[in-house]
Amino acid sequence: MKTIDIILPCYNEEKALPLYFKAVDKIVEELNKYRFNFILVNDGSKDKTYDVMYDLYREREDITIVNLSRNFGQNPAFTAGLETSKGDYVIMMDADLQDPVELIKEIIEKLEEGYDIVSPRRVDRSTDTKGKRNTAQFFYRFINKIEGRNVIPENVNCFRGLTKKIVEQINNLEEKDRYLVSEIPFVGYKTYYIDFKREERVAGKSKYNYKKMITYALDIISVTTSKPLYLPIIVSFFSSFFFFFTSLITFILYILNMTDVLPYSGLYFTFFLINFILLIFSLLVFIIGILAVYLHNILINTRSRPNNIIESVRKPEDK
Ligand code: UDP
Ligand code: MG
Repeated sequence: MKTIDIILPCYNEEKALPLYFKAVDKIVEELNKYRFNFILVNDGSKDKTYDVMYDLYREREDITIVNLSRNFGQNPAFTAGLETSKGDYVIMMDADLQDPVELIKEIIEKLEEGYDIVSPRRVDRSTDTKGKRNTAQFFYRFINKIEGRNVIPENVNCFRGLTKKIVEQINNLEEKDRYLVSEIPFVGYKTYYIDFKREERVAGKSKYNYKKMITYALDIISVTTSKPLYLPIIVSFFSSFFFFFTSLITFILYILNMTDVLPYSGLYFTFFLINFILLIFSLLVFIIGILAVYLHNILINTRSRPNNIIESVRKPEDK
């Protein structure tokens, strides 16, 4: 019998958790060919979430509690769950029923078909405000455009189905800061997307506000792409050339003016000075750009993401 671990990060979810289990039990009942195990990660909740978890743990045989020492955030909570998991398949989802439990069935079907990652993708963001929708769209487009490939699939969050193989790959990553929306696509493998509509939260409040969302977006950009580090060197390369020529031209005009070839204008020297200062400024940015290229190298090496992951090798002797 295959086991399915469902990882639920919980921060102040005392109201949502019982409702989640009420809903999920109906689905689990239908899927009786599998053994389910719920990994409940208590992410330093300040309400009675842990007590609710403990009651569930005493009543049922399918509960594992992972209790974190304080609030670390959704991604570290999921990571703790992934490190605890031993199941054949893992489903990562939120505890507030915004990720519909009805999709569990289809996720398992697709994993059984041979997909390694199943990524539910939000097609309808009507439950979000217009501002949140626009910033989310800008974020996905920006990061995928500068990286030049689909590094973070649009509208896919942490809600996923993964095979054990993927969980092992993710657990093997040595980076300390965990951003699963960046790491899951990074490991690659065959992915299946399921379009779905995200519902309103069933109880409690969202833990993300604008400030947290912006910091989160910037963190993801910085762990996923180092392309912005090349910006100063590219921009200053062109601006240095430009201001070199404008300085030269204004200098010649200034000399011609001094030798009375041109009608008198005191402005030529000022023009030359402005362009020369801009040239020096561009050269300084160019030097910063050189430092940024080295910084990029340090970043890549300290983050310790592997530079490739081999899915399989076939040798002549394996025939
Ligand atoms: N969560 C967590 N730690 C946090 C914030 C959130 O474990 O510091 C959990 C939360 O309990 C929920 C999931 O992550 O199960 C998603 O959080 P939330 O619903 O607040 O995010 P939103 O759906 O509003 O993006
Ligand atoms: Mg939510």
